[in-house]
Amino acid sequence: MKKIGITTTVPLEVLMAAGYQPIDLNNVLVNDPDPGRLITIAERAGFPLNCCSWIKGIYGVCLDHGIQDILCVTGGDCSNTIMLMEVLKLKGLNAMPFAYPDEPAPQLMQHALEALAAALGTTLEAADKVREELQPSRDLALKLDELTWKQNLVSGWENHLWLISTSDFNQDFQKYCRELIDLLELCSRRQPYPVGQTRLAYIGVPAVYARELYPHLEKNAARVVFNEVQRQFAMPEPGESLAEQYCRYTYPYSIHGRIKDIKAELRRRQVDGVIHYVQAFCHRGIGDIVFRDAIDLPILTLEGNDDFFLSNHIKTRIEAFLDMLSRSRKVSKYRSQALKR
Ligand code: SF4
Repeated sequence: MKKIGITTTVPLEVLMAAGYQPIDLNNVLVNDPDPGRLITIAERAGFPLNCCSWIKGIYGVCLDHGIQDILCVTGGDCSNTIMLMEVLKLKGLNAMPFAYPDEPAPQLMQHALEALAAALGTTLEAADKVREELQPSRDLALKLDELTWKQNLVSGWENHLWLISTSDFNQDFQKYCRELIDLLELCSRRQPYPVGQTRLAYIGVPAVYARELYPHLEKNAARVVFNEVQRQFAMPEPGESLAEQYCRYTYPYSIHGRIKDIKAELRRRQVDGVIHYVQAFCHRGIGDIVFRDAIDLPILTLEGNDDFFLSNHIKTRIEAFLDMLSRSRKVSKYRSQALKR
């Protein structure tokens, strides 16, 4: 299969129906043994220092890995991608645009999908068949999610990793499926995490230092039981058609759709506190104001730039937040016991 880079989650069913194997360029960046090297490629080419590291890293991955075809999401994700696409074209690469509609209306989505299918030389009927083939893998990812918050058998990092990977199924959905079946089997034989641990939600774009963040939380008796955007990548509300599926995917549209999903999951998963990650120089960071107004739980806002590890400063802020959550949980437990007496 011919490879095609993607800058974020896209309707990969259409790409696969057209004979392409999607590669999530963000995943390639974070899995590189030296991601800073890929960012440097972009800075040497002239990308400004105050440009988001994901954008620079994606550029570095395309050039370093020789990826010729790239689907750039120019609407519903990141306005920086518009200019990234222009630079990729300048370098002779085949960078194509895809824009989510302004609002999650199935008819608008249907048009966007049809245009994408026509541009790649395939049909939505063929994409629907791929959707059916991918469904078992999506179901398994959502099963893992349930085992995370309901049975307490899965770590926050595992949850992050397997859900985020549904953007391209690690470039081989059948292998993804087999490996996840094995992991679920392993999880079913584990001892659950202690019930009294602090339960966290993680909202916002994936963190550059995710690999260290989740273990650090668990080292401090807390666990992420809800990874918002990562769960959305797995399409928890598939609907009746491809158009419906990508309308119910909350990330590209208004922040209020995301908040509705987040609030329902915070209640369902009995979350104690929220970590909102924002990327340096990203417009989405402004959404922190809206989240803080809408979410009635303590929120810790963490920022990352091109640091793929947790600095001591961030570790200290996390520990102080977890300490505060654990103390307030103890206080409310004593209060409710006192009220019962
Ligand atoms: S983190 Fe923000 S600025 Fe960076 S690629 Fe994502 S949406 Fe764009």
